Amino acid sequence: MQCTTNRAGHDCTFMGKDGCTFLGGACFEVVEKCEGCSRIVTTDAGRFCGVYPHPEMKWKRGICNFATHVKKEIKKADQKINPLKAAKRASRGR
Ligand code: SF4
Repeated sequence: MQCTTNRAGHDCTFMGKDGCTFLGGACFEVVEKCEGCSRIVTTDAGRFCGVYPHPEMKWKRGICNFATHVKKEIKKADQKINPLKAAKRASRGR
């Protein structure tokens, strides 16, 4: 349904027949960490996230998973090496 509050005209899943069902009845504005993200939507009411109604909460536990301007670093797990197989591989010349 189309938003009639802060992001008027944009489709939103929180919009119902009785208005916005999200916390407080409207979206929250983007936070400083959102700067540079392409999902920011600017309306007459301010700057909001196009995909999440409460941007501050998205940054509470680290990097926002919807962010387009920063990427989460994925750590490679230390690979366990079987010494017997490693020796065998080495003897074969690999
Ligand atoms: S996707 Fe994440 S970083 Fe981008 S505007 Fe929304 S909350 Fe902010």
